[in-house]
Amino acid sequence: MNVPEIFGENVFNLKVMQERLPKEAFRSLKKTIDEGRLLDAKIAGIVANAMKDWAVEKGATHFTHWFQPMTGITAEKHDSFISPTKDGRVIMEFSGKELVVGETDASSFPNGGMRATFEARGYTAWDPTSFAFIKDGTLCIPTAFFSYSGEVLDKKTPLLKSMEALNAQALRILRLFGNHSVKRVYPTVGAEQEYFLIDRKMYDARRDLVFTGRTLFGAKPPKGQEMEDHYYGPIKKRVSDFMRDLDVELWKLGILAKTKHNEVAPSQHELAPIFTVTNVASDQNQLMMETMKKVAGKHGLYCLLHEKPFAGVNGSGKHNNWSMSTDTGTNLLDPGNTPAENGQFMLFLVAVIKAVDEYQNLLRLSVASAGNDHRLGGNEAPPAIVSMFIGDELAEILDALEKDKTYKGRGKGVIKLGVEALPELPKDTTDRNRTSPFAFTGNKFEFRMLGSAFSIAGPNIMINTAVADVLRGFADELEGAKDFNAALHDLVARTIKEHKRIIFNGNNYTEEWTKEAHRRGLSDLRSCADALPHFADQKNLELFARTKVFTEREVRSRMEIMLDNYCKVLTIEALTMIEMGRKLIYPAVDEYLSELCAAAYRKEQMGVSSECDRALIAKLSADNDALYRCAAEIENLLAQSKEAGGAEHTARFFADKIIPVMREMRANADEMEQNTAKKYWPFPTYGDILFSVS
Ligand code: ADP
Ligand code: MG
Repeated sequence: MNVPEIFGENVFNLKVMQERLPKEAFRSLKKTIDEGRLLDAKIAGIVANAMKDWAVEKGATHFTHWFQPMTGITAEKHDSFISPTKDGRVIMEFSGKELVVGETDASSFPNGGMRATFEARGYTAWDPTSFAFIKDGTLCIPTAFFSYSGEVLDKKTPLLKSMEALNAQALRILRLFGNHSVKRVYPTVGAEQEYFLIDRKMYDARRDLVFTGRTLFGAKPPKGQEMEDHYYGPIKKRVSDFMRDLDVELWKLGILAKTKHNEVAPSQHELAPIFTVTNVASDQNQLMMETMKKVAGKHGLYCLLHEKPFAGVNGSGKHNNWSMSTDTGTNLLDPGNTPAENGQFMLFLVAVIKAVDEYQNLLRLSVASAGNDHRLGGNEAPPAIVSMFIGDELAEILDALEKDKTYKGRGKGVIKLGVEALPELPKDTTDRNRTSPFAFTGNKFEFRMLGSAFSIAGPNIMINTAVADVLRGFADELEGAKDFNAALHDLVARTIKEHKRIIFNGNNYTEEWTKEAHRRGLSDLRSCADALPHFADQKNLELFARTKVFTEREVRSRMEIMLDNYCKVLTIEALTMIEMGRKLIYPAVDEYLSELCAAAYRKEQMGVSSECDRALIAKLSADNDALYRCAAEIENLLAQSKEAGGAEHTARFFADKIIPVMREMRANADEMEQNTAKKYWPFPTYGDILFSVS
């Protein structure tokens, strides 16, 4: 296979543009892309036509504006290129207008109450910084999605706005360090994706997987992940065939699929691409998740992207590796080795530290979902408390800077920022803490709280916006300074002092850390119901207004959508539990009980009395009764939840009242699973599913 040849073959990338566009049009489009500006209307028609010709040659018949509504997945509405001619034939056409804006009915997408005030129509607009591509015979044009009155309805527009905010402020900082050649600063992201791969037949046999993406029942199998034999273990044939196919499909779409390996749990795997500019990384991650599902189907497999498909087994996350890069290719979180580079690095580093500390709640709520609630706070994923790891070496340097004391690794007095170089940071000691939610890993930060099913747009909007706003404050202060180096040193030292509480280099999974974090005043938002309402905190509303990323209405509507989504997911889970409980588990156990009773009766007729029979019959009867009662109680509570009043109260009601009964119902079922003869159990068990792929 010739990888360089197939790479990007389904993408209308710069190479294709250069080949197919007239020089002038190419130059104009390239400028648009590089500088993140709007497309010149004059060339839209030329670009559209070239794109259409290219797509048709590749077998495409349709086009779609591909966008990311608040559902967290992508949406598309396909139109064919056909246009009728007078003599009853058709020709293939695609206009500049069709490329640049699309119209769609926005009313069926979540809009968090914004719909009442604008017409149902929504618009999509091309984001030329993310290349068009062909998927299943359709030319897909990555777009932003907004309402008639300009209110944002998607995840992409605010992401682009946050990138713009970061660009503007980071450039101000670079200018202060005498850098006048850089034109743009981009946040970059590499999103490592975890997933489970199971046999399709197992999936089809589980209504809970089909309806909710996770198992709502299931006792622990005799073998789980305790042998630690799956992580990085040899990849099974069926899985490696899948991975190989997946790589090829991703490469064709121009996605830099790089690393693949087995993860901690049986049937769990990971795929990591090489990082790229954030909006592209976000589009590509969506495309990657979609492609994973599709390719799995071809192999008789099913790809589970849920954060916690199996209780008691490792869940799936998505590690968001984040940094900032200049258009000239410099990573701004790379320490460098000259005094100026070091000073600049320190400033960007402490900006991120301050941003994370100031906006812990925003980061936390950006990764809040019903699915991720099962991970965060459990002893496998980062806890619900946001903290940062920077490594001992860097921590000592920060400490020396803050207190103007000698750094021991240096041996000659205090460090003066901007005047002398920092000691070189040994890179290999920086990435050893896997328990940290926000870890510095040598030249980037790794935000580890994202759930595997997430769009990375939300969390990156928060990081970019928070860092942009902190940089604005820094630039304001430093631009007015008389002695730049002294002001820089002072600012960095002060920021460390004020925000070092967010830094924790120890084990985040321990009980002691939770106590320590509370003592430090860090926030600990355990569930969606706790976290999501903070979106509209005054401090956050002000941040979004200053940076122009969200209006207050947009924040409130988004919060409403997220809370509502939480309740909807839980409602579907609850209803699925009731259905499986009543229609599958209860009758199955009851049937087994009849057999047990009949056997016990026959034994007694023969003068044999089995204590075991009696005990089992009593236990199964009691558990099955309890299961049935739980189902009725959940049903009652669901009806009551409708009267809770408002999204926030409803979410609270679900978290406090409904989830505990769902847990109880599950516990009963799992107990019965272990006590019921295999042939009666109505669906595949964890053991069947997790070891289904050979
Ligand atoms: P690991 O976390 O497993 O040690 P790496 O550190 O090599 O692996 O990279 C993990 C992810 O971080 C990859 O997706 C990689 O492309 C990404 N990454 C590396 N450098 C950057 C950067 N400057 N900005 C964003 N992501 C990055
Ligand atoms: Mg990693």
